Amino acid sequence: MKTGAQHLQALDDGRCWMLDGVAVPDVTVHPAFRNFTATAAGFFDAIAAPQNQALMSFESPSSGARVGRHWQLPATRDELLGVRAHMQALAALSCGMVGRSPDHVAAALVGMVMGIEVFERHDPRGAAALLDYFRHARDKDLYLSYVIVNPQADRSRGAAGQAGGDLVARIVDEDAQGITIRGAKMLATSAVAANEILVSGIQPLAPGDEAYAFTAALPVATPGLTLMSRRSYEAMAASEFDNPLSFRFDENDAVAHFDDVRIPHERVFLKRNVVAAAAQWHDTRAHVYQNYQSLVRLTVKLRFLLGMAHRIAEVNGTVAMPQVRDTLGALAAKVTLMDAALAGMEAAGEAYRGCFVPNRSMLCAGQAAAQRLYPEVVHALRELAGGGLIMLPSSVQDLLHPATRSLVERTQHSPAASPLERVKFFKLVWDAVGSEFGSRHLQYEMFYSGAAFVINGHNYRFYDWAGAVGLVGDFMRGYETPPLGGVQGAP
Ligand SMILES: Cc1cc2nc3c(=O)[nH]c(=O)nc-3n(C[C@H](O)[C@H](O)[C@H](O)COP(=O)(O)OP(=O)(O)OC[C@H]3O[C@@H](n4cnc5c(N)ncnc54)[C@H](O)[C@@H]3O)c2cc1C
Repeated sequence: MKTGAQHLQALDDGRCWMLDGVAVPDVTVHPAFRNFTATAAGFFDAIAAPQNQALMSFESPSSGARVGRHWQLPATRDELLGVRAHMQALAALSCGMVGRSPDHVAAALVGMVMGIEVFERHDPRGAAALLDYFRHARDKDLYLSYVIVNPQADRSRGAAGQAGGDLVARIVDEDAQGITIRGAKMLATSAVAANEILVSGIQPLAPGDEAYAFTAALPVATPGLTLMSRRSYEAMAASEFDNPLSFRFDENDAVAHFDDVRIPHERVFLKRNVVAAAAQWHDTRAHVYQNYQSLVRLTVKLRFLLGMAHRIAEVNGTVAMPQVRDTLGALAAKVTLMDAALAGMEAAGEAYRGCFVPNRSMLCAGQAAAQRLYPEVVHALRELAGGGLIMLPSSVQDLLHPATRSLVERTQHSPAASPLERVKFFKLVWDAVGSEFGSRHLQYEMFYSGAAFVINGHNYRFYDWAGAVGLVGDFMRGYETPPLGGVQGAP
């Protein structure tokens, strides 16, 4: 099976990765990315570990080799639950902090392959290319990133209406070998540790936008593809002690810019059809299944944050106070509802073209709830913690010098932790909810699957309005509308 060391080796591939105005020669050793790429390698080591074989891997139907279980198309509810257990185990390796772990984009591809007929209807050659790529990615156990959103510019205009003309990635040329792409996409999360990128579009397109309608895959190291990294929180981490989450789990986000990038037809799954570009997400189960993975991961993260909430109350001696218990109980209820949503969408899942997938309307309801819940959890942690998140030594250096260490020991007190444990814990909490890393996580959980109005649009579309409105009609048919003058006592 693929090992972490092999994955790291593959990342030193000549990719054009830009940070602070210069190209990074090898992301696996650069101080802004080396810990996260090591975390990514750890995912593959965990999948390959003999003790995790049944939980985290399965036999590829095409190669017979064992690969990550996220590539499995679940045929039954039990198989879905098995994939879920694998996804939870993978998420646990980062306390749920890595949103685009290897199972995320794989889940999108699995969902597309479940609905391969949708691609076949549009273009049998593209569908065959998708199936071929799926086997390739699965059998090589590739780590994929994706860019499926156009760069934020003028949201009152569509892709074609943006000033400059070359902003949004589009097909600018096509010949017998393939297509040429020019323009940008946001945001290639985890691409720094990925082998390849899926480039597509999930935002609605209109007739006339055909050049913007395409789905293709390419290695990160493809000539002409530049990844512009945001600021690295890993590089900003003063030490593992100071920023334990930024230090290891900064999955990075980057703008992808395609400067006349050639993609062979064998890696183009859909092109020049705005109807098929939407159908690939919503008539297949790609949207459902990729977001199912996200919710599985989120439940792991919420459990971790809830553990922090309780520990804050212990460390500050507030845990027995009725108001604090009320806060913790209310949080526990909301997080448990997310677990219930997950169980519900599995229990009420549906058979879809030989697969078993989570219930779509429950999935979208879970997404809407998650977008609101995450900021509430962050706010509750801050409220529980008070100034303790700030009353901290400037860095680990203060603990290395006898005078400042002694001051720390005299000023950091807790009924439930030693002074150094208290500092260590509150630095962890601040990294989760207050540091730039923590702040980016808030933005991530609010937006990674689309702005709230988009998610609510899905909820509107998938809800059983006919059934609900029918109940109102049924009830109203049970009593009469009075004829004119027929009501006693009317004026
Ligand atoms: C940390 C992070 C990581 C990400 N990772 C990825 C990734 O790996 N791959 C990827 O493809 N994308 C990624 N994204 C992009 C993500 O999918 C988008 O942020 C999301 O789809 C919302 O699009 P937007 O950011 O352009 O916001 P917009 O669509 O511009 O929305 C911002 C706000 O503007 C308002 N608004 C905009 N349009 C309308 C409208 N039509 N009607 C009403 N109100 C409107 C709403 O208030 C909305 O909340 C990531 C984003 C973040 C923040």
